Amino acid sequence: MASSRHTSFTYNGQPAHVVFGSGTLDALPVEVERLGMKRVLVICTPRQARDMDRILGLLGGAAAGIFSGAVMHTPVDVTEQCLAVVEKLKADGLVAIGGGSTTGLAKAIALRTDLPQIILPTTYAGSEMTPVLGETRDGNKVTQSSPKILPETVIYDIDLTMSLPATISATSGINAIAHGVEALYARERNPVVDMMALEGIGALFSALPRISADMADVAARTDALYGTWLCGICLGSVGMALHHKLCHTLGGGFDLPHAETHTIILPHALAYNVPAIPEVIDRLKPVLQTDDPAMAIYDLAGRTGARRALKDIGMPQSGIDLAVERAMSNPYWNPRPLEASAIRELITRAYQGLPPAPV
Ligand code: NAD
Repeated sequence: MASSRHTSFTYNGQPAHVVFGSGTLDALPVEVERLGMKRVLVICTPRQARDMDRILGLLGGAAAGIFSGAVMHTPVDVTEQCLAVVEKLKADGLVAIGGGSTTGLAKAIALRTDLPQIILPTTYAGSEMTPVLGETRDGNKVTQSSPKILPETVIYDIDLTMSLPATISATSGINAIAHGVEALYARERNPVVDMMALEGIGALFSALPRISADMADVAARTDALYGTWLCGICLGSVGMALHHKLCHTLGGGFDLPHAETHTIILPHALAYNVPAIPEVIDRLKPVLQTDDPAMAIYDLAGRTGARRALKDIGMPQSGIDLAVERAMSNPYWNPRPLEASAIRELITRAYQGLPPAPV
């Protein structure tokens, strides 16, 4: 008799209201009213501030102001500046439009004020689906989780992603694939998350080369955003392992760009875990149409023009020792126990941009 995979598990769903499609930005006034917002603060990056007319028009009398100072890694001093604006305007709700950096600022304000959030994602980072916030204070990034951090409403409008440059789309999309891949071998994995992960990875894997060939391919953009949503739910529902921890260590330790670091590390982290997760690899093979899922992700990065070497995104060679030391000194769950010499080889291969290999 065949045994079942689904013997015992816990499922932890995150409550979020999602509106998905093209032109869904038009739903903003309905969502603002649904959440009872009367004085909305709009959050964005300095670059996007000039495109805010449409948002302000849709908000009408509910628009209280704009804070356009969102930056990478959610530094606490920027959050404090934004908090002062929230208090001055007596804002009762947040609308954030942008990538993970902008979403991070809205989450940081919500953590301190419990204000409701409407997020309009413009990248494939997936942060909008998680109750997790990483904040930087004095150069140290600290991650925490709270129900207050989880956005109430997410409006996925494909139109807002059309301008995301092809190379950033590729690395951002592989960042989302990483959430799905690690969910498949998470300690808290469960059948619902497995389904979302496989569906999300497949949608992104098919979409990213099409976006790379034609940035204006609406069907590919739709598939990528759909995959992002699913992989974002995975990130918010189960714990992550070696890949996310390494990216956290490397990104925080050497100030490396977030999505590119994920893109470079994922094939190597997956290759490291291969001996411990044969069943997961068997499930990934048909989704990635390959016998070697780690190599397929490395190839995807190559085909979409993403950089594949840590040395090319600002990591110093002298940092390899420190990265290994930090990865080993902060033990965390991973399907294959951490072995210092193998982790050193993994990071060295990623530093050099070599293909993933058994280590
Ligand atoms: P980002 O938000 O910094 O955006 C990357 C770049 O793309 C920026 O220059 C931005 O201005 C530009 N951009 C964004 N949307 C655009 C568009 N539609 N058209 C043109 N340009 C556009 O980067 P990101 O990778 O989306 O997010 C990274 C941040 O998110 C990191 O701080 C990371 O830690 C965080 N994050 C958090 C979680 C979580 O669950 N807490 C998950 C994923 C990422």
